[in-house]
Amino acid sequence: MANAPAGDFYALKQEQVNQYLHDTIVVPEDLQANVMVTTLDKVYNWSRRTSMWPLLFGLACCAIEMIATAASRFDLARFGMEVMRPSPRQSDLMIVSGTVTKKMVPAIVRIYNQMAEPRYVLSMGACATGGGPFKEGYNVVSGIDKYIPVDVYVPGCPPTPEALIYGMMKLHEKVDRQSITKVPWYRKETSDAIPVPLLGPDIFDPRQVQLIKEYTLAKPESAADGEKRRGSGEKREAAAPVALSDAAKERIAQAKARAAAKRQTA
Ligand code: SF4
Repeated sequence: MANAPAGDFYALKQEQVNQYLHDTIVVPEDLQANVMVTTLDKVYNWSRRTSMWPLLFGLACCAIEMIATAASRFDLARFGMEVMRPSPRQSDLMIVSGTVTKKMVPAIVRIYNQMAEPRYVLSMGACATGGGPFKEGYNVVSGIDKYIPVDVYVPGCPPTPEALIYGMMKLHEKVDRQSITKVPWYRKETSDAIPVPLLGPDIFDPRQVQLIKEYTLAKPESAADGEKRRGSGEKREAAAPVALSDAAKERIAQAKARAAAKRQTA
């Protein structure tokens, strides 16, 4: 068997196919144009890759480029992708196109959880990938991959339709490399849903609640000690919360009374 050049995936696949092509299988002449020998992986991946339905979902200016990609000039129908589904339950691909605000993250994670496997995520543009021009802003997260797994990143601000199509083609190559024997959605243990982040004064992962509590309630012995512990990730002894002052209790009681009066008049 001739060795395919290292890194040439298609040549390697062809080598696998060649194993099954031999003279003992005699194909009648009138059928020769209609018979194809291939692997199950190849057929399975080809069918998924050529009918990948993106989710109809845009967040900011990048979404305009995504819409242009689907229009006649660039024509996603060439890839079987023209049907942008309005439901996550019918979609295979989430294109995160635009600025990801903290307010939007719970909705994105919830939609991702509602997508059935196999599902893929493409991060479109600087904002979705790392916060973009709004990085470190008070209301923007620095990358959607902090919350959901991303398969392909497309750089740019905004990426052109050509760049998005290139990213999609890279995703197609990734699909081609998957094997039906190893894909996670046929394993016994199903993938768990990602806990939906909570939006309070800031956004946080519900799995980190205990850690956040420990940090919030514990008092560092000094400012330097606090910095040191934060850096090392060392756990602190949980301290009892400080009791509310009488003035604060009074303000809370007044606010409750105002809210009750408002409810009665409504
Ligand atoms: S990457 Fe640029 S074009 Fe895309 S959403 Fe952010 S600011 Fe807008």
